[in-house]
Amino acid sequence: MANPKISVITRVFCASVMQPVLGRRHAGRQDTLEKSLLLACLIGCSTVAAQPVALTDARIIDGTGAAMIFPGTLVMDQGKIVAVGNPADVTIPADAQVISLDGKTLMPGLINAHGHAGGVRGLESGHYSEENLLRQLSLYASYGVTSVVSLGDDEEAGFRLRDTQHHAELDRARLFVAGPVLNPSTAAQAAEMVDQTATLNPDFIKIRVDDNLGRTPKMSAEVYEAVSARADVYGIPLSVHTYYQQDTKDLLRVGADHIAHSIRDSHIDDEFIQLMHERDICYTPTLTRELSTYVYESEPTFFSDPFFLAGVDTDVLTTLREPERQQRMAQNAAAQQYKAALPIAMSNLKTLSDAGVRIAMGTDSGPAARFQGYFEHLEMWMMQDAGMAPMQIIKSATGDAAACMNLTDTGSLEVGKWADLIVLEQNPLEDIRNTRSIEQVWIAGNQLRRPRF
Ligand SMILES: [Zn+2]
Repeated sequence: MANPKISVITRVFCASVMQPVLGRRHAGRQDTLEKSLLLACLIGCSTVAAQPVALTDARIIDGTGAAMIFPGTLVMDQGKIVAVGNPADVTIPADAQVISLDGKTLMPGLINAHGHAGGVRGLESGHYSEENLLRQLSLYASYGVTSVVSLGDDEEAGFRLRDTQHHAELDRARLFVAGPVLNPSTAAQAAEMVDQTATLNPDFIKIRVDDNLGRTPKMSAEVYEAVSARADVYGIPLSVHTYYQQDTKDLLRVGADHIAHSIRDSHIDDEFIQLMHERDICYTPTLTRELSTYVYESEPTFFSDPFFLAGVDTDVLTTLREPERQQRMAQNAAAQQYKAALPIAMSNLKTLSDAGVRIAMGTDSGPAARFQGYFEHLEMWMMQDAGMAPMQIIKSATGDAAACMNLTDTGSLEVGKWADLIVLEQNPLEDIRNTRSIEQVWIAGNQLRRPRF
């Protein structure tokens, strides 16, 4: 039987290149072999497609919510999708490299509508740099998360990467940015801060309207109304961190454009749904963010998941396993309140999804112990536990997430979009947990084979 850890690393990062090595696997030499596998990948596996590539015999889920196409063919050239559909409707160029996917699932790369990138190394913040951004964007990409909307704490290097990613040699997750999370205390200051942030040309303006379970002062309505009005002057959408249903309703009334977390204090009512529908506002659940607030009170089950372990630093695991640390979390009142709020968040997600409100999959990964890449998969699995169907979840994590976050060139398998896509060995429509069978990641038409962590 294949060693699960090695086979996951191989599937995610090395694809077919390492298969011959795996065949010579020896049980007693697992760690050494893993290291040499990774090293071989690092040295040997960067490719930029110089010719069109046709992926054939695939189950294609295009991310728009349309029915799966099987058998399906997708052709990409110069980083973009140039044809997709049934073989009868697609002409494969004579010079194309043809790769049969043999019944595997082809779908858009995942879009994380609420992440954070660049700041954390290990469990420590304060490490914002281009190098750290690139490392994290490669980690996201290796898990098939091909775009990340960073909603706050973005610095100049992040804007620079955002501005220089529109080319066919890209080999890491796309990054979109909000700049600093604004925290003005007066309406005048709010306008000033929006003016200042607007000069950076952010994709979103981000604010927090939250009292941290009654522990800190909350931004006043007068102030967030001023932020919203000023952001409208520039046409920059306003994404809001909220917790309470009433605050969120008030924010929707003054023009909030994206709800970045679940409502966690109460069950959503009809008025809330109506406010979301009125301007077709999207909602990002960040269920894994809630999980992360308490789950390290003991050893989480995912600590023994090879798919998780493939992307995590062992020092981080050692720290999170410290008994004193676990005990502190178990005794932390806020952690236990967030734990109690998670079932409300999951129930609200189901209510909104059933009501036809657009859900944009997002995790709030990036801060310490919110694991980039793995948490996007875990989020989708929790969305299924909340009652959403696999096709709804896939749409939420691809086409809807892109549309909600104004990413016009990615998120679906349609002609003219960047060829950002993933191949899964098993069918995710049968069980969304099959996203763990990810075997290939393509960004701008380039197959990734290079872990950078
Ligand atoms: Zn966040």
